[in-house]
Parts: sequence; structure tokens; C-alpha cells
Amino acid sequence: MSDEELRQVRPGSMTRSYRHGLILVGVLCVLATLAASMLLFQRSYTEGVDRHLANLCRTLAAGYNARQAGAPAALAALADGAGVRCTLIGEDGTVLYDNESPDALPNHGNRPEVQQALADGVASCTRQSATMGRETHYYALRLDTPAGVQVLRVAEEVDNLFGMGAGALPLLVCAVLLILAAAWLLSFWLTRLLVQPINRMAEHLDTIEANVPYEELIPLARTVHTDRKLREDNETMRREFTANVSHELKTPLTSISGYAELIESGMARSTDVPAFAARIHKEAQRMIALVSDILQLSELDSTQAARGQQSSFEPAPVDLAALLKEVNQNMTVNARKAYVTLQYDARPATVLGSHDLLLELTTNLCDNAIRYNRPGGHVNLRCGAGTDGAPWLEVEDNGIGIPQDSQSRVFERFYRVDKSRSKATGGTGLGLAIVKHIALLHDARIDLQSQVGSGTTIRVTFPREQAAGKARSQASAT
Ligand code: ADP
Repeated sequence: MSDEELRQVRPGSMTRSYRHGLILVGVLCVLATLAASMLLFQRSYTEGVDRHLANLCRTLAAGYNARQAGAPAALAALADGAGVRCTLIGEDGTVLYDNESPDALPNHGNRPEVQQALADGVASCTRQSATMGRETHYYALRLDTPAGVQVLRVAEEVDNLFGMGAGALPLLVCAVLLILAAAWLLSFWLTRLLVQPINRMAEHLDTIEANVPYEELIPLARTVHTDRKLREDNETMRREFTANVSHELKTPLTSISGYAELIESGMARSTDVPAFAARIHKEAQRMIALVSDILQLSELDSTQAARGQQSSFEPAPVDLAALLKEVNQNMTVNARKAYVTLQYDARPATVLGSHDLLLELTTNLCDNAIRYNRPGGHVNLRCGAGTDGAPWLEVEDNGIGIPQDSQSRVFERFYRVDKSRSKATGGTGLGLAIVKHIALLHDARIDLQSQVGSGTTIRVTFPREQAAGKARSQASAT
């Protein structure tokens, strides 16, 4: 990824997002709390006002009735100290008395509270005042006086919700500013609290799983740990492989160089030259075998890595019986040279795979069975299908066998039980590693049975669902 691309995908600041989040939450909380409390307060306040007006109206009515019902002047004496607006209205809507308006008022017959009081005896209502942010609460009672039907109405003007909000605005602004400042400061502290353990975790990647600060980060820590371990293992393997290859190549090269030097300097007698040339040839052959095995392994490595993409491995039906016959033919001379009897027992079995790779696998197993054998020994090549239909092939010998503790290691690169015997018989230490890779590519299982002195049997069992295997590789190849 280029620097430009890296700059483009650079993630945003966690501190900033955290701060903005905190501020937003803080401001929203203040606004919501203020709105809710104002609403509650206003409701309970107006309920109180309505109650007060009702009580006052009833008290005034009782007083008015007791004094001189029907005469507005009797009400005037009572209404003076009431602290609210008192209005006495006749049945036709004429305003008979109003303690806040000495002048004559227009007819009130169309007022809802008056109409309702005349009809029901009692009425209560609230109306928007002419002043912005104010509303007027009314309570009215019908009075049946000797002078006729009248309506006694009391009214009080109070702040509505809007008016209260306007009153509380400075407080609101102060609270929001305070919250902004507090969230700003708090966000620094909280972000540090949150981020510090993550930074500490990132600083100690080798013990990452022991230092996970939050359970949400466990999957991340696990992935990092696995990835790291894999890289380390790969690095170790790569280093060991390079060291082994260098070592393996150095030995024949030193030998070749030594013999060539003897011939070059004339120190070798002419009678020795053919023998020296033969040694040089043999060592060169060994190097060629080694290099070709290394190339084969590296090709298998990349095939394995590219599995599912375009790869050199194109599965096709391979007749195992014909394959064993081919190996038997190819290895007859080798077997004869080692005084080993080579025979095969092939039953019909077909696998989906690569003919060339399976030939290589069987040849390697057969070659080992001959080389780690004894004169007069035998090697049997077998193939067939199990009761479950899974195809298999097997190479059995009655050679020197593999010690128990080495059996799990012989498939490692360059691992040999007896190094000198391996080298003397042209081994590279990579034969079984190649076998393992080829088996892996075919999803096959390897079973090794061996006993020192009695012999070795290696069986490769292929998956039964070969058709499924093919479908899978073809699907992933697209
Ligand atoms: P090499 O090239 O040395 O044969 P391989 O990877 O083919 O390397 O085998 C690894 C080691 O396993 C051999 O060096 C040998 O010690 C042991 N081995 C493999 N096959 C057999 C066998 N059929 N019998 C006994 N030992 C074997």
C-alpha cells in the first residue's frame, strides 16, 4: 500500500470521537432533563392555580350569597383583597362588575366559560393571553340570586411553558456551557483511561493474551497471537531450511572442489583420475538430486499456497493400479541392484488428482523401501479401495524399520534416522517431506507402521468423496 493510500485510509482520532460523543450526550441530557422538569413543573403549577381558583371562586360565591346576593357592590367588598381578577356577569352576558376594569366591558355572553357555567353550573378553562408566553386560567360558577341568574368568574394570568422556558434560558445556556466544559475535560481523562491499556497491550505483543484489558479485545488478541506465532514458526522454519540447504550443498561442493584441485595441481596420479572423476560425478549427481527436490518442494509450497487460485494442480482421474505398475517398472533396476524383490498387487482404485505428483509420491516411498532394506528383502506395492470406498495405496517393506521416536519426525525436511546411510544411498532428506506435501494437496491421510528390524508399511488413504474434492477445487479455482 502506498503512502498516499495509507494517508487516505488513516482512521479518525478516537479521542476526538469520544469527546464529541460525550459532549453530545451531555448536552442532550441537559436539554431532555430541563424540558421534562419544566413540563412537570408547569403542569403541577397550573393544576395548583386551577385548584386555587376553584376554592377562591366557591368562597367568594358563598360570601356573596351570604351578604347580599344579586348586588354587585356586595361582591366588590369581597373581591378587593382576593388577588385575582373577579368578574360578575349577568345571564345575558352583561358584565355587572369587574375588579380590574372600572370601565364598562363588552358583553361576555360568548365566552366559553360563561356559556358552560350557565349550562352546567360550573366551568373551567384556559386561554392564551394577549401577552406572549402567558396564559389565563378561568373558573366560573353560576349563581341563582334573587336578582336573577348570574355567573361569578375568577381568572389568573400565569406563564405558559414557553414563557417559563424563556425565563430559564440564561440558566439553560449556563448549564450547556458547563456541560461542554465538563465533557471536554472528562473526555481527556476517560479516553486516556480507555486507550492506555490498549497501548500497553500493543507494546507487549509477545504476552498479548495475558494482557487483554477488555473482554471485547480477546478475539483481536487471539488473532494477533496466532498470527505472530505463525510468523515466528515460519521464520524459524525458513532459517532452518536455509541453513540445512547450505549445509547439504556445501558437503558435495567441498568434495568436488577437493578432487578437482587434486587433478588440477597434478597431485592425483593418472590412475586415480577416473576414480576422482567418478566421485566428482557422484557428488554432482547428489547436488542435482538435492536441488531438484528443493525445487519440487518449493513448487509444492506455492501450489499449496495458491490452492483455490490458478495453480499447476489440475485434478484428473488417476488409475492407481496403472500407476503402481508404472512405478514397479521404473524401480525394477534399482531393486535388483539392491537385491530386493519388488512386486505389486493392484486392485482397481481411482483418485482425482495429479498423475505426475502421485507418481512422484509412490516413487519416493518405493525408493525408500528399497534403500532402507536388506539384500534378499522384499517390497510390496499395493492399492485398492476400502470398505467405505476410500481409495488407498501402500508400500510395504521388510527392511531396517524406523525407531518409534523417529516415526513422527521422518516427514520433516532434512530429518534422517541414519544420515550416513541416507547419503550413501543418494538420499536428500526431502523424500518424505515431498510425500507429505503431495498427500496434503490430495487431502489424503498418511499412516506409518514400522518396527526396527521387521520393516515399514506406509499407507496413503485418499478421501472417499473424490467428486466433492474436485467440485471444491474447481469452485475455488473460479
Ligand atoms: P532420505 O532422502 O534420507 O531417504 P526421506 O525424507 O525420504 O529422506 O526419509 C527420511 C528418513 O526416514 C530417512 O533418512 C530414513 O532414515 C527414514 N526412512 C524413510 N523411509 C524408510 C523405510 N522405508 N524404512 C526405514 N527407514 C525409512
